[in-house]
Amino acid sequence: MKKLICAMLALCMLLILPGLGEGLTVEDEATPTADPAPRTESATRDTVSSADSASQNAVPSADPAPRTESAAQDTTPPAADGMAVNVVAQDPSQGGSALAPQGTVPSVVAELAAQELPLYGVKIGIDPGHQAHGNSERETVAPNSSEKKAKVSSGTTGVYTRIPEYITVLEISLKLREALESQGAQVYMTRESHDVDISNQERAKMMNDYGVDLVLRIHCDGVDSHSKRGIALYCSRSNAIAEESYRACEAILPAVCAATGAESNGIVRNDNYTGQNWSTVPCLMVECGFMSNPDEDVLLNDEDYQWKLATGLTEGIMAYIAQRDAD
Ligand SMILES: [Zn+2]
Repeated sequence: MKKLICAMLALCMLLILPGLGEGLTVEDEATPTADPAPRTESATRDTVSSADSASQNAVPSADPAPRTESAAQDTTPPAADGMAVNVVAQDPSQGGSALAPQGTVPSVVAELAAQELPLYGVKIGIDPGHQAHGNSERETVAPNSSEKKAKVSSGTTGVYTRIPEYITVLEISLKLREALESQGAQVYMTRESHDVDISNQERAKMMNDYGVDLVLRIHCDGVDSHSKRGIALYCSRSNAIAEESYRACEAILPAVCAATGAESNGIVRNDNYTGQNWSTVPCLMVECGFMSNPDEDVLLNDEDYQWKLATGLTEGIMAYIAQRDAD
């Protein structure tokens, strides 16, 4: 009797196991090809601190963008299009065949798929405004100016959430990076953690050196009034990249307002900002909303709203790049 039961069990195993193996292999093989964004390294990615509080909150629950890992948790291959990686597939007992193939064929397929993405070959810079501590040392506001301003101000704070701007804008920026990478862009960040000391002039020069196609400086507003709200874009008025930066603003502002439902406060052109004045590549500042408005403060710190900002900005950038390349 025991022999019969053993034989039946063995037969069952023979019938079931190949099926399991097939299911795992198919799903895993889909992973590299369905994740077309090139995982391009940003220069400062290795400096991410695991204690970064913004990054710990950066994993979206209803993520409209494909990437699910945050900068600080970037230790596993990304899941494709929000699809969870099958834990069983990583079981060592399944051997190498159950893991993502390491051969050249999938990487060639992934590369070909990446080339079809709208931002393939486009370099975008993201400068999340401010840092954990401002730096009141002074630097010149423009290349040919003797006027000086603080290297980095400390930014505003949410009137309701009490969250400082430097945290909010990094959360938005990390989502923006994911959204841009999902469209094939190569993204460069000025910072990925809060504990840095990088002046506005240095941030501009970093992006000049990378030779990016466009820089977005991500900020939130703060004023005395609790009622003021909405999104504004700022760009320089008279330096060499003023016209191209304005052109980018014209494409991006309607897209981000449509995606978020936020009011538009228009495009402001002036030569007041060190980060824009020192830029030799098209550059604009996004004031994502007013942290001095209690409702907008809550929205700006809400994961879903941050994703709306990120996807709206990405759509605007795609519109700008398409227009630019059409000329
Ligand atoms: Zn700011």
